[in-house]
Amino acid sequence: MDAVAAAQALSEIGYILRQDPKESFRAKAFSAASWTIAQQRPDLEALRKADELTSLPGVGAGIAKVLDDLITTGSSRYLDRLRVESGQPSRDDETVLDLSEYQGDIHSHTKWSDGRATMLEMARGARALGYRYLAVTDHSPRIKVVNGLDAVRLLAQSQEMAEVQQEVDGLTLLQGIEVDILEDGALDLPDQVLEILDVVIASPHVKLRQDPAAMTERMLRAVSHPHVDLIGHPTGRRPGSREGATYDFDLVFREAAKHGVALEIDCDPARMDLSPEMARLAAELGCNFVLSSDAHAPAELAYVPMAAWMARRAGIPKERILNWNLDKRFKVSSH
Ligand SMILES: [Zn+2]
Ligand SMILES: [Zn+2]
Repeated sequence: MDAVAAAQALSEIGYILRQDPKESFRAKAFSAASWTIAQQRPDLEALRKADELTSLPGVGAGIAKVLDDLITTGSSRYLDRLRVESGQPSRDDETVLDLSEYQGDIHSHTKWSDGRATMLEMARGARALGYRYLAVTDHSPRIKVVNGLDAVRLLAQSQEMAEVQQEVDGLTLLQGIEVDILEDGALDLPDQVLEILDVVIASPHVKLRQDPAAMTERMLRAVSHPHVDLIGHPTGRRPGSREGATYDFDLVFREAAKHGVALEIDCDPARMDLSPEMARLAAELGCNFVLSSDAHAPAELAYVPMAAWMARRAGIPKERILNWNLDKRFKVSSH
């Protein structure tokens, strides 16, 4: 079993444990170990033979035992048991996804809003993972605490992007925005601004507890907006700490499919939104998907390889995941 597959198994264990508040500490330990392995890609077989699995940061005796099982048998009895106990058994229609064909991440943040790294640092991080694209999608102005970008700052950012583009070979930077879906479903930037950006992610961030009828109207308006490419973390949930928004998922997902608006599987372990179950529903209703890290630092780009199991469990074929064919979707030569 390679490091990425092992990281995905640990990530799934962390995800299931997270749903039980009593297990939150252990859940975080599994997610952190998964993240380390997804970043470092160690030779697990060699470490196991040398009895050195616990030399990996965040891997104690318990996690080492799970890894040992994964390396020697290709599966984890502990994960199998958790799946059954939590009512999330594996399905026989799960898809096979080859992450080496993942072309790039189209949801990331920089110091322009609430990211912790510069655009150049993020671009180098994406290049190090072998990506061909990185979309920089900082926040829109409404949420003041994240220093969201208005039209003037977006213009300044595009100038920096042109300079950073010169510094990184083989990676195409895309300029995007993660625009807030306002309470009435309007977007937090004017159309003239949205239409010149390469990627527009519309995300619900505030007032997630709106009543379901109003929330449905809000989301329907967002998915039928002509400049929206995808809906970011479509429910806003935080497994183990905050339930997501409730709306008529059937109706909104159908409408998204109709308008060619993709739904995101946000791979940040604190979000994991859409969940595999919801993504399965959306897939059945004809939606396309995007698998993103929502990274706020270069190391967080590794959230995608660690959590790609969610798309597999949802049974989404790779043709329906835009990151596998961004060439077709975003033909950008201007940068
Ligand atoms: Zn967001
Ligand atoms: Zn984001």
